[in-house]
Amino acid sequence: MSNSKTRGAYNLGLPRMTKWSKLSRFTTKSSDYCGPCCDNSQVDLHHAEGIVLCCMDFRLRDNQTCHLNNLGYKNKYDEVIGAGASLAYNNRLAGYTDASWNVYINSHFDLAYSLHNINEIIIIDHEKCGAYRVTYPDMTDSDEINYHLDNVTKSCDEIWRLYNPINGTIQTTVPESEPEVKQTGIPNLKVIGYYVNINASKFTKLYERGYDSYDSSTTPATYGPEYKTVMVL
Ligand SMILES: [Zn+2]
Repeated sequence: MSNSKTRGAYNLGLPRMTKWSKLSRFTTKSSDYCGPCCDNSQVDLHHAEGIVLCCMDFRLRDNQTCHLNNLGYKNKYDEVIGAGASLAYNNRLAGYTDASWNVYINSHFDLAYSLHNINEIIIIDHEKCGAYRVTYPDMTDSDEINYHLDNVTKSCDEIWRLYNPINGTIQTTVPESEPEVKQTGIPNLKVIGYYVNINASKFTKLYERGYDSYDSSTTPATYGPEYKTVMVL
């Protein structure tokens, strides 16, 4: 039974605070974790290739990471999570359409650029996504990919519209190392959309948009023609 003398004069029903005697009770040692999974050589690095927007789903954590590692992205990307990935970005998730997911996600894109100088934005949707299931209750297993392609294309097009360095509309926060730079968009931006099967058997590119070439030695930087490829189902 609760005792006000032992819980303080003001018993508000809050959890009792306990001071642990030794920090080591919370701390795992390097010998406790899986060595091959952990790269400790990057402690002082500040550049990342890109940022990944992915779903919250627990089933995809290792699958998605493994596919990205195989593509050469191991520990080279920042990450932001929104339920349904492209669905969140499009503010279409049923029951949460007023949650301003895109504002939250765009803030991470901006931070990824200002802190880590990224130039790729990658969206990863996945098969049997619960967020899609509640948003599209009539969706079948066979036509699920159509819904993903629609949302991935819509979100990637919007990201390109906002962040491309030629006529993007978002004023990005430049890296601390270049405080004099004022710009819109992200230099040499590439936007990519993927779809990963729930059993990790396939990692399919649905969308890619960028420039054929980029020369940063000129002022301003010189860009080749823009390209956009979208999977045809
Ligand atoms: Zn999902």
